[in-house]
Amino acid sequence: MNILKFGGTSMGDDQTWQQVLNIIDGYAQPCVVVSATARTTRQLMAAAENSLDDFTEAQAISADIRDRHLKIIQNFLNNYPKAEPAVEKECKSWINKRIADLDTLLRQVNETQELTLKTKDAIASIGERLSSYLFAKCGRVAGLPTTWVDAADIIQTNADYGQASPQIAKIEENAHLLAEKLTDGRIPVIGGYYGQDEQGHTTTLGFEGSDYTASLIGAVLSADAIEIWTDVSGIYTCDPRVVEDARPIPQLSFQEATELAYFGAKVLHPSTTKPASQKQIPVRVKNIFDPQAPGTSITHELADNGPVKAMTFKENCTVITVSSSQTVMGYEFLASVFDILRWHHLAVDVVTTTEASVSIAIEKNNRITEAIEQLESYGSVETAANQGIISLVGCRQNGSKSIVNNILSCINRTPANLISFSQSKGNLNIVMDRDHIIPAVKTIHQHLF
Ligand code: ADP
Ligand code: MG
Repeated sequence: MNILKFGGTSMGDDQTWQQVLNIIDGYAQPCVVVSATARTTRQLMAAAENSLDDFTEAQAISADIRDRHLKIIQNFLNNYPKAEPAVEKECKSWINKRIADLDTLLRQVNETQELTLKTKDAIASIGERLSSYLFAKCGRVAGLPTTWVDAADIIQTNADYGQASPQIAKIEENAHLLAEKLTDGRIPVIGGYYGQDEQGHTTTLGFEGSDYTASLIGAVLSADAIEIWTDVSGIYTCDPRVVEDARPIPQLSFQEATELAYFGAKVLHPSTTKPASQKQIPVRVKNIFDPQAPGTSITHELADNGPVKAMTFKENCTVITVSSSQTVMGYEFLASVFDILRWHHLAVDVVTTTEASVSIAIEKNNRITEAIEQLESYGSVETAANQGIISLVGCRQNGSKSIVNNILSCINRTPANLISFSQSKGNLNIVMDRDHIIPAVKTIHQHLF
């Protein structure tokens, strides 16, 4: 049994839906996870923000989402003139109901002038609620035994809105809903990204969370493989949209893939690998536009291909340097600094220390200002905004020249603000001013890959 996850681009229009159905048709026992249709999640978030001060715009976005989904269904069904008329009616009614839910939420935000993370999650989930139900209906029209499963009935999480943590034991209990359908020879279609807390409120698993849904389901169902189908042929040596000659990496370890995802390769949600690696289930990244291409296979094995496996980058970071006021000992000082970061849920990307100071690179986040205020009670704080991080993953010694020297000599004219290297993990992170990131990425890629 394979979990097949299809992202936003794959859910783009009636033609990609057909392509995706053809792929699903090639599997003996697939379980399908889908994202919202392309652009929908972004539009939903824009509608939510607009509903605070520009309600007309929020309504216009909602109408646009409705019209686009109606059009996808219309176009899809036009290719199946023999489809039962009831299907079109059910699909339209579903679209109208979900858009009515959306409009109610947007009106509430406008009236109360409050947009909580909880409301944002309820709004964001509408994209997957639409795509998964409609896609399951269209699958039936195309002759596949697809059947919709509401992710709220499977993916139970805590109430950490915006970035909820899955409750694995509950998901294991709920998995029988999927297992029974699979045993009956049906193909479950489930929306990614959203779930539900114990109180029945909608939650989401964070940006790109559909990958995570696929992996969670794969783990609880002990799938043979978890396949992430997207618009590129696997995980590349660098984002192919930025580096033209980037190429797909045939094989990565779970740890390497996690590092790449964590440090910015948006092809995969950083948590995707965790449930899969615990259950030793291989994850494959494949291209819907080139299904024959081998893509990337992620397993426990380390493959040997060159001195560096891949690189990635982030462009939206802040570096905070705290210099200790002398009243605290070194270990207490560091503990206090990290405690404040923990309190604000700020994940540290890069850290370097000196005898009396610590510098930390963090992805831009609206809680940084508050954290800085608190950090000031432990010493003087300097911040540098507009920073980026280049991360090299799977670095290994190559001949006599150290890999770090090799990489740094490629960009010797670009000032690096922080550098961290782990020999055992083969990870090198370089923080520099954002404007230097893309040129440096291109130069390093050209020299090393
Ligand atoms: P989906 O909608 O299928 O989830 P995403 O847009 O989330 O697709 O992920 C695919 C995109 O990730 C690619 O189009 C590519 O631009 C980007 N990307 C960034 N880094 C990498 C990388 N190292 N390898 C492959 N794709 C990458
Ligand atoms: Mg994605």
